[in-house]
Amino acid sequence: MTCNGRIVIQKGVPLPEAALANLKASVKGEVVIKGEADEVIYRAAIDRWNKAGIQEAGIVVFVDSEQDVVACLKFVQEYDMDVTIASGRHSYYKASSTKGGLVIDLGRMRKVSIDKKSMKITAQGGCKVVDLETPLQKQGLSAVFGTINDTGGSGYLTGQHGLIIDNLLAAKVVTADGSVLEASHEQNPDLFWGIRGGGSNFGVVTEFTYRTHNQGKVFFGPLVFTPDKNHRFLQLVEPMRQATEASNGKLAVFVSFTKVLGMPSVHPVCIIFYDGTEEEARQITAPLFELGPAKAMAVMRDYAECTAPTPMSEGPPTHQHYSASNSPLNLPVDTALLEEMIAALDRMFEKYGDVVTASRLFFELRSYAKSANIDPSATALRARAPAVLLAMEGRHDGSIPSKIRTEVQAIIEIARSKQKGRFINANIGDGSEKVADMFGGNYESLRQLKKKYDPGFVFNKWYPIPPAGDCSVQSIESE
Ligand SMILES: Cc1cc2nc3c(=O)[nH]c(=O)nc-3n(C[C@H](O)[C@H](O)[C@H](O)COP(=O)(O)OP(=O)(O)OC[C@H]3O[C@@H](n4cnc5c(N)ncnc54)[C@H](O)[C@@H]3O)c2cc1C
Repeated sequence: MTCNGRIVIQKGVPLPEAALANLKASVKGEVVIKGEADEVIYRAAIDRWNKAGIQEAGIVVFVDSEQDVVACLKFVQEYDMDVTIASGRHSYYKASSTKGGLVIDLGRMRKVSIDKKSMKITAQGGCKVVDLETPLQKQGLSAVFGTINDTGGSGYLTGQHGLIIDNLLAAKVVTADGSVLEASHEQNPDLFWGIRGGGSNFGVVTEFTYRTHNQGKVFFGPLVFTPDKNHRFLQLVEPMRQATEASNGKLAVFVSFTKVLGMPSVHPVCIIFYDGTEEEARQITAPLFELGPAKAMAVMRDYAECTAPTPMSEGPPTHQHYSASNSPLNLPVDTALLEEMIAALDRMFEKYGDVVTASRLFFELRSYAKSANIDPSATALRARAPAVLLAMEGRHDGSIPSKIRTEVQAIIEIARSKQKGRFINANIGDGSEKVADMFGGNYESLRQLKKKYDPGFVFNKWYPIPPAGDCSVQSIESE
C-alpha cells in the first residue's frame, strides 16, 4: 500500500527510495510507481477489464524479457512485497491485481512466430488471442482459444480439439527463485503437468507453444428469440446438446438468457458455430431456425471473425463491473432447473432495472467428449467431467456491488444445490470457491509441486495452492 506517497511494505515500514532506484536500473521495461507516475498513466497501468477487479498497486512493471521478470521476483522477495502477474487483464475477479504490491505486467511481450511445417505457434506470455488468430488465419490455420479474441482456454474449437492446455506443447516459466525453465513432456514434466490447469501457481509463463490446426470457413452467428419462445427454446436444449456430440465436435451452440433493449423480459440469444458447410449447419440446427428467431445473423465467415468482440460480449461502457459465478450442469440437461433460474433472473431485472443491464445466464453446448476423454490426473485440471458449463454474469454499473453479488450467488446456487460434482470452472469462477474443490483428486500432488517450485507462496492470487506442509488456504477474496 502507499502512505503519504510512499510505498509501505510492512506495518508502517516504507520501501527505501534506493530500492526503487535499483529496481528501475535493473529492468529494461517501464516502471510505473504510484504517487510518482502521472495519474493518467498510473490509472491506465492498473486498469482491468472488470472494473470491480481494479486494485491500487504500488508498482507496475511492464516487463520486456525474462530477465525483467527475474529482477521483479528478486525485488519483491527481498522487500517482502505482494506480487501478481497480469497479461490480458481479463480475470473475472482480482486475480491479476494487488493492493499496494507489485504487478508483473506482460502486456508488452506480444511477439508471435508460426512454424507451419510442424504446425506450431509460439507466443510470448503477454499475447492476446487476437495476436495469434490474425496471423494464423492468413495461413489457413487456427488454434484453440476462447470465444472472444482477448482471452480464453476453451472455445468454439474445443469440441474438436480439446482445451487450450491439451494443445499446449511447451512453455518457458520463470519460477519464484528466478530460474528460467523450459516445461514440456520432455523437460521438467512435473512443472508442465502443473501449469496445465494450475494457473499462475508455479511461475510466470513468458512463452507458450501451441499445436495448430487446418482451418476453413465456418457457419457462425447469433439467433435472437422473443420471450414467448422461452419454453419451446428450452425443449431444444438437450436435443441440440446431443447434436453437438453427434457432429464430432464441429457444432457448438452457446446460449445466453438476457434482456436486450426493447424486450419485455428475459429471452434467449444463441450463437451457432459450425465448422463445415452452410448446408450441413442449417440441416443440423434446423429446429432452432424453425422456432422462428426474431433475428438470425448466422452466415459463413472466416474463423477469426467469430471471436471478434461484439457489443454483447463487451457490455455497455457504463456497465463494466462484473460479478460472475458458475456451476456444472449435469446431463441430460434439466430444463425445469433452467426455467427456475430464468425466472430468478427476470426477478433480478425487475428489482434492479438499469443497474444490471446486459446481465446474463449462459451455458455452452459443445461436445465434451474430447476434453472428458483425457484422464483427470493427466494434467492439473481435474474438472474434465462431461458437464455443461453454466455461468451467471452480473454486469452492473458499480453502484451496489454487494447486492448484485448476492443476486448472482443466489441464482447460481439454484443450480449448484441440484448438481452432482464439485468441480468449478476457474475461468468464470469468482475466486471464492474452495481451492481444494477446484483441484479435487489432484490437490495433494499440486501441493507437493507448489512446495518444490514456490515454497515461499510468492504466487498466491489465482486459486492459491498452499505448499505441502502446515500452511492452508481456504478461499480468496471476491467481490
Ligand atoms: C469477457 C470474457 C470472456 C471470456 N471468455 C472465455 C472463453 O471463451 N473461454 C475461456 O476459457 N475463458 C474465458 N474467459 C476467462 C479467461 O480466460 C480467464 O479469466 C483468464 O484467466 C484471463 O486471462 P488474462 O491473461 O486475460 O487475465 P489476467 O487478469 O491478466 O490474468 C488472469 C490470471 O492469470 C494469471 N496470468 C496471466 N498471464 C500469466 C502468465 N503469462 N503467466 C502466469 N500467470 C499468468 C494472472 O496472474 C491471473 O491470476 C473470459 C473472460 C472474460 C472476462
